Amino acid sequence: MNYLENSPRIYLSPPHMSGNEQKYINQAFETNWIAPLGPNVDAFERELANYVGVKEAVAVSSGTAAIHLALSLLGVQQGDKVLCSSLTFVASANPILYQGAEPIFIDSEPETWNMSPQALSRALQDLAEKGELPKAVIVVHLYGQSAKMDEILEICNQYEIPIIEDAAESLGSSYKGIPTGTIGKFGVYSFNGNKIITTSGGGMLVSNDSNVLKKARFLATQSRDPAPHYQHSTKGFNYRLSNILAGIGRAQIEVLEDRVQARRAKYDIYNQELANLPGVFFMPELENTRSNRWLTTLTIDERVTQISVEKILEDLSCRNIEARPVWKPLHLQPLFEGAKYYPHSERENISEYLFNNGICLPSGSSLTIEDQYRVINCIKNTLNSRSDVFSIDDNKILFS
Ligand SMILES: *Cc1c(COP(=O)(O)O)cnc(C)c1O
Repeated sequence: MNYLENSPRIYLSPPHMSGNEQKYINQAFETNWIAPLGPNVDAFERELANYVGVKEAVAVSSGTAAIHLALSLLGVQQGDKVLCSSLTFVASANPILYQGAEPIFIDSEPETWNMSPQALSRALQDLAEKGELPKAVIVVHLYGQSAKMDEILEICNQYEIPIIEDAAESLGSSYKGIPTGTIGKFGVYSFNGNKIITTSGGGMLVSNDSNVLKKARFLATQSRDPAPHYQHSTKGFNYRLSNILAGIGRAQIEVLEDRVQARRAKYDIYNQELANLPGVFFMPELENTRSNRWLTTLTIDERVTQISVEKILEDLSCRNIEARPVWKPLHLQPLFEGAKYYPHSERENISEYLFNNGICLPSGSSLTIEDQYRVINCIKNTLNSRSDVFSIDDNKILFS
């Protein structure tokens, strides 16, 4: 076994604490606010709302719960249709199933990897003709990259379909100066352990419609009617965020801007080191947008590299480096077998291409420069392996 295999594991996107979290957790303990509500929850909601510039935010137990609440608030129910980006994590679409509704998946376009406006337009035209317009469209901002919101909004407005922005991966990103998650009717953020900031688990639902968020709070706390006894007339959920976890969130939001800058800096180094290799292409950043670069992702053109994506992932794994393929499109998931899907065009299936050729690289804001070069050199070695140019231990090239 070579010593590199014993090197500490490099994770894709590990939590990165600021050190200030404990202060807010201690406050919760000192005041005995060990509940799914309390001063940290209120403050975290206010601080996030201020950060992204919305009227109000509701802290919940996960991003998935926030999407579920948004669908409930839009009245999505059994038999309704909901459109959703196909290239995403399953959490974007699972809540559609919770409501007994039918997901219809929309392909990506090549400039952002996000929802293809032309595929969306075709889908809505098609559904309008059949009198089966969807109740909502869930647009994902993948890996921090904004979707083409102007085009998507225009199409949805034409049919008066509300948009839920799944900004779970894009907190800190902006589209034409506007934070992602604040453009549609609802925005959703996640504070899962792998996200740009984390509460270990948690989420936020935002909107500029205060009335509807009031209803979100009601639904998220078991829909308890105003009465001295426990009175319920609507189905509710138990979705509020713990006051302890919200404390972690308060410290994390203080460093969100630093985290965005750190992730962007990781991207810059990867890009500088790998972008000039033949057959390697990085996820583009749409003009007038700023990605938080949650994960640095690239595609490999195997016809050029003569090295497969699988081989690159395998070599990284051997070196104890966690890298992943791009999300498997939801229309290809067994869970959604038979679901309708609208590709970018008759001959272009962008999400499937990205799945087959894409790689996500370790992008944590705490990734050290030494570790990042372990990743870079491993990829360079693999890509050069067919000509046997490199056979020296990669760490030695840089750090001896
Ligand atoms: C993480 C994630 C979610 C879900 O967030 P949880 O807080 O884990 O429930 C939803 N959508 C996308 C695209 C995500 O990456």
